Amino acid sequence: MITQACKDVSKVISKQPYFKRCFLELVPNCIPKFFPTVKYRLERNSFFFCSFKVTQFLTGHGNFGEYLKRFHRQTSDVSDCSAREIQNEEHIVFLCLQVDDCRKVLQQKLGFLEKDWTVALISLINTKSSFLSFTEFVRTCKYK
Ligand SMILES: [Zn+2]
Repeated sequence: MITQACKDVSKVISKQPYFKRCFLELVPNCIPKFFPTVKYRLERNSFFFCSFKVTQFLTGHGNFGEYLKRFHRQTSDVSDCSAREIQNEEHIVFLCLQVDDCRKVLQQKLGFLEKDWTVALISLINTKSSFLSFTEFVRTCKYK
């Protein structure tokens, strides 16, 4: 069922083609983990411009084992790193051993020590500065 909130989000993101495509696939879940409310998203319009890859991270719909297995594009949803966890956007941001170097750069830019790396996903896109750091992380991290 499409709620009014979903329609509002759809209107806001219709100017960003990558996001629009992903949003249409998300209707059953309505709002991705990164966005608690439509208002939250609207308040960040001045700096919130998403590339194709950033959109994949924000929606969880992309080159992640969990998503690819769901659509029978691969047989396993487990990451190739030694952590042996389900590979999704949270795994890549918080734990994946394949992107340790990029994560350390992100942690430094956001002012976190590695041992304190328990931030909420939303804090990665909360301000212009954190959003730019996050988009740099997404652009540079390589995983398979
Ligand atoms: Zn991994």
